[in-house]
Amino acid sequence: MTSPTQAPVLFISHGAPTFAIEPGVLGPQLRALGQKLSGFKAVLVVSPHWQTRDVQVMTTQQPETVHDFGGFPSALYDLQYPAPGEPALARETVRLLTAAGFTTNFDERRGLDHGAWVPLYHMLPDAQVPVFQVSMPASLTTAQAVELGRALAPLRAQGVMIVGSGSMTHNLYEFRQGTTRPEPYAQEFAAWVRTAVVANARTPLINYRVEAPHAVRAHPTEEHFLPLLVALGAQQEGDVLQVLDGGGVSHGMLSMESYVWGMPQ
Ligand code: ZN
Repeated sequence: MTSPTQAPVLFISHGAPTFAIEPGVLGPQLRALGQKLSGFKAVLVVSPHWQTRDVQVMTTQQPETVHDFGGFPSALYDLQYPAPGEPALARETVRLLTAAGFTTNFDERRGLDHGAWVPLYHMLPDAQVPVFQVSMPASLTTAQAVELGRALAPLRAQGVMIVGSGSMTHNLYEFRQGTTRPEPYAQEFAAWVRTAVVANARTPLINYRVEAPHAVRAHPTEEHFLPLLVALGAQQEGDVLQVLDGGGVSHGMLSMESYVWGMPQ
């Protein structure tokens, strides 16, 4: 593979672990996107399912597929995503994050959590491109999430695609299988976020918890929204935005809306 001038940045909604076997509308959208991608060296994923005290960077040579969820259909536990790791670029990532003021350490044994492998299972099903993860500090604020993304942005010029994996809405207490009627609050929240993302309005997004309608109901806890702020921080001037609507709101409350910035045209 040749190195592109700039690898893209994504925010992908992975919703719930069942997304791996229920691709819905977003799965094929990610598949089509993956088929257009070429020439990048590695994928860096920031997932809500790896939270630590300081920042950890995975330097694992061959990460395991971790099934970090309970009570789901057995077919989910059989899935494997055998992509190799990328220790050299991971070490470069530690250097960049440390230089940006984040206390950062290696993790040489960590595997891929489902926030990383489930969306990649759809987007890059061959599992040939190396993948590594960067953890989120448990105390991360929205403003710090943008800073984390900004610190990672130079990796794009080295051919590293940056993926913030989370969920546009994530109140799983309200998840209702078989419901076709979307909750208006989830639609209003997702529409507000889309407007802000399209306008590249970072300050309202940093303050989303007070400014966005129904923010606390859409995200009782913040960890599935923060990866969007990481992706925004890694975005650079001139990146063209593409919206993947994910099929709107399903299961009453789940929006799988996702974004891509800087796809090679
Ligand atoms: Zn999740």
